[in-house]
Amino acid sequence: MSNNVLDKTDVTLLGAGCASLSLASRANELEDYDFTVIDPETHLAQDHIWGFWQMPWLSAAVLISRKKWYNWKIITTDKAVLHTTEAFPYSAINRNDWISDCFEKAIDNNVKFKRELTKECSSQVLDSRPPKIPKDNMLQHFVGYEIQAEKDVFDDTTAILMDFRCDQSLGMHFIYFLPFSKRQALVESTLFSPKKAVPEFYDNAIKTYLDKIMFTKSYKILRKEKGVIPLGIFEKRNPLYDGIGGNGGAIRPSSGYAFSFIQKQIDKIIKSSKKTKKLMVSSPHSKFELCMDRIFIKVLRKYPLIAPDIFIKMAEKLTGDEFAKFLSGEANYKIWLKVIYSMPKTPFIKASHEILKGTDPKW
Ligand SMILES: Cc1cc2nc3c(=O)[nH]c(=O)nc-3n(C[C@H](O)[C@H](O)[C@H](O)COP(=O)(O)OP(=O)(O)OC[C@H]3O[C@@H](n4cnc5c(N)ncnc54)[C@H](O)[C@@H]3O)c2cc1C
Repeated sequence: MSNNVLDKTDVTLLGAGCASLSLASRANELEDYDFTVIDPETHLAQDHIWGFWQMPWLSAAVLISRKKWYNWKIITTDKAVLHTTEAFPYSAINRNDWISDCFEKAIDNNVKFKRELTKECSSQVLDSRPPKIPKDNMLQHFVGYEIQAEKDVFDDTTAILMDFRCDQSLGMHFIYFLPFSKRQALVESTLFSPKKAVPEFYDNAIKTYLDKIMFTKSYKILRKEKGVIPLGIFEKRNPLYDGIGGNGGAIRPSSGYAFSFIQKQIDKIIKSSKKTKKLMVSSPHSKFELCMDRIFIKVLRKYPLIAPDIFIKMAEKLTGDEFAKFLSGEANYKIWLKVIYSMPKTPFIKASHEILKGTDPKW
């Protein structure tokens, strides 16, 4: 439906989370469209951190990010790899800082907000409500504490992206540690498995890590966060609408990273709008990446105990810049070859064979 007076195309954004508000905040770049966000006030959700590597399409997020690290580590029981970068620091932003910033920009850009989707709502609906996830699908699930230690104990120059020195009995498990200062850090217990663990599992993992690895017993918990991120390719929530964000395939199946890919997806929507009246939404991941991720997830599901070895070997083969590009979906063939070369061959061949046979379609 076209708005007769101004001849603008109406677009409804269903949901008011990351994808929807990120797009609404850029309505000024889409002058031929009128946006309405359907928000049953859910944008006011619990705060948490979004981590991403600083890439050219993330400059707005970088401006209000909380901290960046030019060094990061991957650690197993017997090895540690330190990556350094100048070009692509790992950055952290608070969800509510980003969402508020987007919300204000959307209002300035005359985006309308409504509680419910009504019949007179438009033409094109971009649906950001989460898709339905099949039972027994692979998940990334985590609990994090933001803590304040009593003394200066942390090395705040280096983020720890994965520390596998924790209980591996329920699937691939690592601690994600973002030191915001020498005293303040986010400590997250993260599992990749089809089943969530009991809350005590994550809590114990965090406490044990702080005690035994960080030698920190005295601290205050400032905030808690938790999440479940589905890993795979899913049917859209409603086949009649175009999906965006997690409902539009933006979550990278092999890592659960989504924030950066959502911004990439929105960039593509804006660029393609110059050519068509209807906004074109596509996956920010290539078919090749999705195919490789499928095999990778199958390996993690079947052989979780080799996960620490897989990640440390991959990190050893790549430089910091290559690692950042790989996890941001910017790997060239040289990076891909290094990654493939670093992987243990037998589990990957077995997993590929199973996928080709089609006997187990699960992610
Ligand atoms: C705690 C947590 C930490 C994360 N950390 C990272 C990270 O570090 N890096 C990263 O890249 N990714 C991270 N992610 C993953 C990803 O970035 C987020 O899930 C992201 O919010 C997905 O954006 P989205 O717009 O697709 O979905 P959401 O932001 O979840 O937005 C969906 C919206 O739809 C609304 N909605 C649902 N049902 C209805 C309905 N019936 N009617 C109207 N609205 C509805 C929801 O309330 C919500 O507002 C994290 C996720 C969580 C939960």
